[in-house]
Amino acid sequence: MVKEAKHKGKRVFVCERCGFRFLEKKWAGACEDWERTHLSCNREVVKHALK
Ligand SMILES: [Zn+2]
Repeated sequence: MVKEAKHKGKRVFVCERCGFRFLEKKWAGACEDWERTHLSCNREVVKHALK
């Protein structure tokens, strides 16, 4: 499940599997989808995460 959260007054989307936060929901969803099948993080997705 992608969760919504607040970060510095903005709405962000959190991947529940790894806890990374993304500005766009599509990336949080892509992150979860990847981890569900690969059991690891996808660097191409993670680079869209907030630091
Ligand atoms: Zn993730």
